[in-house]
Parts: sequence; structure tokens; C-alpha cells
Amino acid sequence: MAQTKGYTHYACDRCGKSAFMVDGSAEAREWREVRRVTAGGSESVKLLCPECRKSYEDLVTKHDILFNSFMRREEV
Ligand SMILES: [Zn+2]
Repeated sequence: MAQTKGYTHYACDRCGKSAFMVDGSAEAREWREVRRVTAGGSESVKLLCPECRKSYEDLVTKHDILFNSFMRREEV
């Protein structure tokens, strides 16, 4: 019986989607580990599937705009 090694189990921390993917494959690279720091300074790391990663990037892009406005001392 043939064996294939080098698979990793991925599970999205947001939606629960899971998959076994070949390490380093294009599919696996679509998943992303993101770090977030709360207002209180606590850092957490979450693994996101491609769909949740896109939603997260949309969210943090808005945060980036607000933060940049804050740093320019503009009203936010
Ligand atoms: Zn997800």
C-alpha cells in the first residue's frame, strides 16, 4: 500500500472548516495565521481559512485606515 507523507491538518479558528493539505502546497498557502493585539495588550494567534482570511483582511484594512487617521491626530 502506498503511503503519502507531508500532510498537515488545518482547522479554521473562525468557521471551523478543516482540511488535510500537502505542506507548502498552493492550497495550504491560502490559509493564514494572523496575530492580533487587543486594546489591553494581549496577543492572540488565529488560523484562518481562505474565506475567513479575506474577511479578516477587509476588517483590518478598515482598522489600518482608522489608526492612520488617529496617528495624524484626525477625528476618527
Ligand atoms: Zn474560516
